[in-house]
Amino acid sequence: MSAKRGKKASPAHPHEDLLRMDRIPHIWCAGCGIGMVFGCVLSAIKKSDFPLDDIAMVSGIGCTGRMAGYIKLDSYHTTHGRAIPFATGLKLARPKSRVIVTSGDGDLLAIGGNHFIHAARRNIDITILCVNNFNYGMTGGQLAPSTPFGAKTTTSPIGCAEDPFNFCHLAAASGATYVARWTALHIRRLTDSLNEAMQKRGFSFVEVLSPCPTSFGRRNKMGKGLDIVKYYHEKSVIRNGIDPSEATLDFNSALVVGKFVDIERPTFMDNYKLVAKRELEPWPAKDKKAAASGKQASK
Ligand code: SF4
Repeated sequence: MSAKRGKKASPAHPHEDLLRMDRIPHIWCAGCGIGMVFGCVLSAIKKSDFPLDDIAMVSGIGCTGRMAGYIKLDSYHTTHGRAIPFATGLKLARPKSRVIVTSGDGDLLAIGGNHFIHAARRNIDITILCVNNFNYGMTGGQLAPSTPFGAKTTTSPIGCAEDPFNFCHLAAASGATYVARWTALHIRRLTDSLNEAMQKRGFSFVEVLSPCPTSFGRRNKMGKGLDIVKYYHEKSVIRNGIDPSEATLDFNSALVVGKFVDIERPTFMDNYKLVAKRELEPWPAKDKKAAASGKQASK
C-alpha cells in the first residue's frame, strides 16, 4: 500500500529498523518457532539501554544461527559449534561490547559443548541464547544432546537410546551467573529474561523450547508448529528459583521453566586484571605467623 502524501510510511515490520530487509524473506519453515524467539531478542535489545553500536551477535551453524545474518547490527555467522570462542575473542578485544550468542541445541551443546562449559567456568561476560528444538533441524533432523529418551530422529529411527542433558543444570554447574528457560510462547517472560541476561555481568544463559515441525515434530507425530508450541506451553510449569537439577523436561508430566539462577561472581576480566596487576592473594593461603617466618602454614 502506498503511503499518503505528507505522512510517514509505516514500516513493513515493527522491527524493520533492526533487520537486514534485503535478506528477507527468511529461510525458516512455516510453523518454526525461531522467528518468534528472534522477535523476542529484538524486543529485548530495544528495551535495553545499550547503544546499538555496542551490541554484537555471534552465531554458529544451524537454523538458529541465521539470526546473525538477519539482524542489522554487528554480527558474525561463524563455524559449527564455535560461536563461543569467537564471542570470547570479541568480548576480550572490545570489553564494552555486549555480545549475544544465538545457537541451537546441537551447535551449542554437542559440537560446541566443550566451549560452553569452559566459558561458563571462566565466567566470560557474554549472553547465550539456546533455541532448543530437540534435534539438528537444518542438517536433516539428527539426534542431538537434547533429544528426549525414546524420541525418533533420522539417526535414531526406532527411538533415542540416550538420556539428554539438562542444559540449565549444566550451565549452572559450570558456573553461569544467570540461567533461565522458557518456551517460544512465553513472549513477555522470554523478552524480559533476555533483557535481564544482557544486563548481567558474567556468563548468562537462556534456553527456549521451540517447535521444529519439519524435522522433530513430523517424525514424532506432534502436529503443526502451532500445535507443538501450544503443547510445550501448556505442559510447562513455572518454578522460579528452584535448583536447576530439578528443572527437568518430562514430556509425560511437566516441562519446568522459569528463572533458576541469578548470582554474582567475578568475571574472567575481573580476575585477569588482578593477575596482570600482581594483586592476587598468595596461594595457598598462609597464616600470618607462618608468612612472617616464611614457612608454609600447616593444615
Ligand atoms: Fe525451524 Fe526445523 Fe525448519 Fe529449521 S528445520 S527452520 S528448526 S522447522
